[in-house]
Amino acid sequence: MLSHAEAAVPAVVPTIPQTLPELPKQETLVPPTLTFAKDIASFSAAVATFAREAKAHAHLAGRLVQQCTYWIAADDGKSFAPAKFAAYEAMTFDGYVLAGGDDGGSRFDGTLARKHIKKLTFRKFRSDPPLSSALKTWAEITLGVVTEPAAMRERWRFVRLPSRVENSSKTPRRWRDAILDAAVRVAGNGGRFTRNELLYAEGASMLQQTSSAGKSPDQTVTRELQRMQTDGIVEHEGLGAWRLLVPPLIAQDRDWSDEEIDAAIEREVFRLPDIPTSDALTLTRCRRGQDRVRVHVLANYRNRCAVCDIADENLLIASHVERWADNPDARGLLANVICLCRPHDCLFEAGYWSLADDLAVIRRTPLASETIARILPVTTSFQRPLKAPPHSNHLRVHRSKHGFDVGSIDGA
Ligand SMILES: [Zn+2]
Repeated sequence: MLSHAEAAVPAVVPTIPQTLPELPKQETLVPPTLTFAKDIASFSAAVATFAREAKAHAHLAGRLVQQCTYWIAADDGKSFAPAKFAAYEAMTFDGYVLAGGDDGGSRFDGTLARKHIKKLTFRKFRSDPPLSSALKTWAEITLGVVTEPAAMRERWRFVRLPSRVENSSKTPRRWRDAILDAAVRVAGNGGRFTRNELLYAEGASMLQQTSSAGKSPDQTVTRELQRMQTDGIVEHEGLGAWRLLVPPLIAQDRDWSDEEIDAAIEREVFRLPDIPTSDALTLTRCRRGQDRVRVHVLANYRNRCAVCDIADENLLIASHVERWADNPDARGLLANVICLCRPHDCLFEAGYWSLADDLAVIRRTPLASETIARILPVTTSFQRPLKAPPHSNHLRVHRSKHGFDVGSIDGA
């Protein structure tokens, strides 16, 4: 009953109502017309609905967990919905039952649903052990459904929704970060992707993230890919084909070894995304990641404050240029973290001083405190780290946030 033609014109086809109490019950009931979800936000909404309503429909939800192979995961990897549930606009459990989803799925074309999801997200369904574990745990706790771990993990395939780009659009991202994330989304088996796939699927998003709207990403993407090859992050396989050598390593995904975390920090692919405070394991993994970042930052700055002679480790801080909360993607990047003593960290965070692109120290004027002037004399200079000096993109955000050099923000 569902065709591509219907899917292409969602605006004129009635969607399943959010609530159904007014509908006639039983034999007078007319199956509602399904329309495909119109965008990624609709998938997110359906995943949220599934997570919210599952407990009240535990029997059906439990059966879906055991029967469905293809799942959409929210961007945080914590909530899920079957592909044939989430592929449709404004889907609810009641709507799902009404549309016949419960009788063996005869009215649902699972293949078309999956194609639609791939088309909108530019992602492929793939096995994902961390998501499998998360889904299994969720089903056990919420639905009381115990799944055979091995069987389910081998069978489940996931598409993880992209995180909302709008949230990060205020702070321009570095091209490298945007390309790396895009490549991870686009890449198929063995981390392979082509430059054209990257541009076609993610070009618009990358331009938006890097605040480069209106420009063509072609040359920048080529240049950055070549730089990333030099840094051992990707490898050119010829004819526009590339391979990710080191996919981003998410601190919370697993109990990584120090060596694995260290390698990811070195290659600028270590990520510390937002974490739920309720999850002790996730919290532990995140702290461990932070500890490794700190070790690297201190070593990078020779265990000394970058602007004074304090070298007592108890007084040294791995100080983020773009603050922890403001730019999750940059939390594990050495180019965004400076080793500072506590007093200089406080003054840096409060915007009493910042750094120019050439790493010259710039101070707020007037400082309006003799004490601060003593801690931050005119002669204060920045000791360059051994590698990965603060990147101008992060510095620009810091300066603009604290009112330094307004007007030069878009200078590059
Ligand atoms: Zn200091």
